[in-house]
Amino acid sequence: ERLTRSGAGDPERAAEAALRPRGLDDFVGQPQVREQLSLVLDAALARGRAPDHVLLSGPPGLGKTTLAMIIAHEIDKPLRVTSGPAIQHAGDLAAILSSLEEGEVLFVDEIHRMSRAAEEMLYVAMEDFRVDVIVGKGPGATAIPLDLPSFTLVGATTRSGLLPAPLRDRFGFTGHLDFYSTEDLHRVLVRSAGKLDIAADSAGLHEIASRSRGTPRIANRLLRRVRDWAQVRGDGTIHEDAARAALRVYEVDELGLDRLDRSVLQALCHRFRGGPVGLSTLAVSVAEEAETVEEVAEPFLVREGLITRTPRGRIVTDAGWRHLGYEPPEAPVT
Ligand code: ADP
Repeated sequence: ERLTRSGAGDPERAAEAALRPRGLDDFVGQPQVREQLSLVLDAALARGRAPDHVLLSGPPGLGKTTLAMIIAHEIDKPLRVTSGPAIQHAGDLAAILSSLEEGEVLFVDEIHRMSRAAEEMLYVAMEDFRVDVIVGKGPGATAIPLDLPSFTLVGATTRSGLLPAPLRDRFGFTGHLDFYSTEDLHRVLVRSAGKLDIAADSAGLHEIASRSRGTPRIANRLLRRVRDWAQVRGDGTIHEDAARAALRVYEVDELGLDRLDRSVLQALCHRFRGGPVGLSTLAVSVAEEAETVEEVAEPFLVREGLITRTPRGRIVTDAGWRHLGYEPPEAPVT
């Protein structure tokens, strides 16, 4: 399950790398973010300065890492990649910052998971391009300021609300990535099938696009799985019925819900009679971390109108009950 979500396996990662768009023009969909970002980059290029720091927020697999790479490509600067969980001590961050080249793009994935001490160091670095290196201990300790080259920080987070306000405020631009339409995912798939030399007709790709949870990473992964099916059980080409049959094998339903999505929905219906139920209780009942349920499964279930979040907890909607094949219960008399 984790592998299907975050694409951690090496072959998966290599397959992803091969499909990443390189320039902003290749990046499908997200017209607002693309337009906003191209203004930020063009203006910086015209002024001959490093672009403002950029924060990208949105569920996993929507293109945050890809955009960071595109930013570096568009301004023709190197890219350094790290992540919040990898920066636990301020010293880890100081080492990275002090080794940056002039104008380099520093990508910090899951920036909301950085330690507090590192975060405070980052504030100063973002604003003044300086770090204070503490030398010595106790009363004799002194802070030695170290000037940094100018750089552009690109931070990625699943929800910008997870960031403390002082950090959020230091980004000159925040791009919110939203789930992709089926049409946009279809375009992603046409491009990917071309690159991977996969034979497919438009209806076949449309079927995959409509079941990819609005997520390019998932669309590309399902494309490879459907290709397997077409090669082994079909005629080698991805047609609509091949896509349907293959996705049945991989337990992806018509809305694109996968096992985690469905088990969250099922737990809400069966164990909690439709809710409301709190996040941590729900997470325990599906044996997942609260963060995964909240940031990976829920955004899509909410967007599809299958559950709602209320101050009292999560509730299944009528559409949610029906999606699992049940009649919604009568509303209680109040
Ligand atoms: P995130 O960092 O948000 O988790 P990634 O940038 O790693 O997501 O994107 C996952 C995969 O999806 C990439 O390998 C890329 O090929 C593909 N992808 C993402 N966004 C787009 C897009 N707008 N157009 C084409 N492919 C995309």
